[in-house]
Amino acid sequence: MDEYTEPKHRVNQQLSCSNCGAILKFAPGTHAIACTYCGTHNQIEQKSEEIVSEAIQEIDFHSFLKHNKDRGLKIEVKTVKCPGCGAVSSLKPNVTSDECAFCGTSLVLDSASISTLIKPKALLPFGLDHKRAIEVFNGWMSSLWFAPNNLTRIARQNEALKGMYIPYWTYDSSTYSTYSGERGDNYTETESYTDSDGNSQTRTVVKTRWFYVSGNVQNNFDDVLVVASNSLPREYAQNLEPWDLEKLVPYDEKFLSGFQTEAYQIELEKGFDYAQEIMEKEVRDSVRRDIGGDQQRIHSVHTDYDDITFKHILLPIWISSYKYNDKIYRFLINARTGEVQGERPYSWIKITLAVLAVVAAIFAYLYFSGNLK
Ligand SMILES: [Zn+2]
Ligand SMILES: [Zn+2]
Repeated sequence: MDEYTEPKHRVNQQLSCSNCGAILKFAPGTHAIACTYCGTHNQIEQKSEEIVSEAIQEIDFHSFLKHNKDRGLKIEVKTVKCPGCGAVSSLKPNVTSDECAFCGTSLVLDSASISTLIKPKALLPFGLDHKRAIEVFNGWMSSLWFAPNNLTRIARQNEALKGMYIPYWTYDSSTYSTYSGERGDNYTETESYTDSDGNSQTRTVVKTRWFYVSGNVQNNFDDVLVVASNSLPREYAQNLEPWDLEKLVPYDEKFLSGFQTEAYQIELEKGFDYAQEIMEKEVRDSVRRDIGGDQQRIHSVHTDYDDITFKHILLPIWISSYKYNDKIYRFLINARTGEVQGERPYSWIKITLAVLAVVAAIFAYLYFSGNLK
């Protein structure tokens, strides 16, 4: 029981600068933590090959759920829940006030609590630094047509972009599916008809002959990615893919220093439901290929999921959210690839003025060219 009496959420001593005592933050694009005050750089130790391969090793899904009291795989983190959108994120060390990265609501840090969570095994460290992310953000902003003027002002605030580690599950499984359906083979036939002038004509039509079929297909899935956050709309998260998962490094809190980390809100089991949706689509594609022919109808598919394993990982994004006319808009950057996803408001005043200007130009043209008297 002793192991739980010691708070595990205090700042790791290795994270304070040996030179000036300030907090060392992970320097994106490097493998080091750095002091923003005196510039001291400390390399994050490279892990041995065994540790690396252990970290990217998947865990058996069913036996984990059965014995999920297993303490070795859990961590305690100090988290705060956003009163606005419900996102649960970790606190940056020494931060006394902060805003929710997902909706911009002020976080009440007094309400922080300790959550016990499945420990992430691996993560992708930030590749793009804050400066580069701001450039990408500004580039995107200035490309917007008909955006409200004060939007660019909101976006120009330095704190507008936050670095965030987002929780993900990845699942592996081999599937065996039995199906029944119909295969359609096309053929052509010449038929005669009478045209509108009363003459008899012939034409070629395509017809389909249907046969009942049944069979089975096998698929192997590797690293089916499911975002374990409710704060990030699923489609945006998917549009940030692909991730260079082959570059995953073992979890080390040094990589998290200077960033916020969101705690997962979608549990391991629920996450697998989403993974199944993704896998089912691919299974149906395999079934169609297996049926062959020119057209396919699928009546039923039954899939067994075997050898299910999972990993809990963290992936880095830069995120900005701003409220405009009571609606939340988000801007996201994949902090590995620079892939951008953004929502934007339109200024109806600007659009109306532009439309009026075009209408006025047309009238002016007609007037001066003498077509309008
Ligand atoms: Zn220092
Ligand atoms: Zn929020």
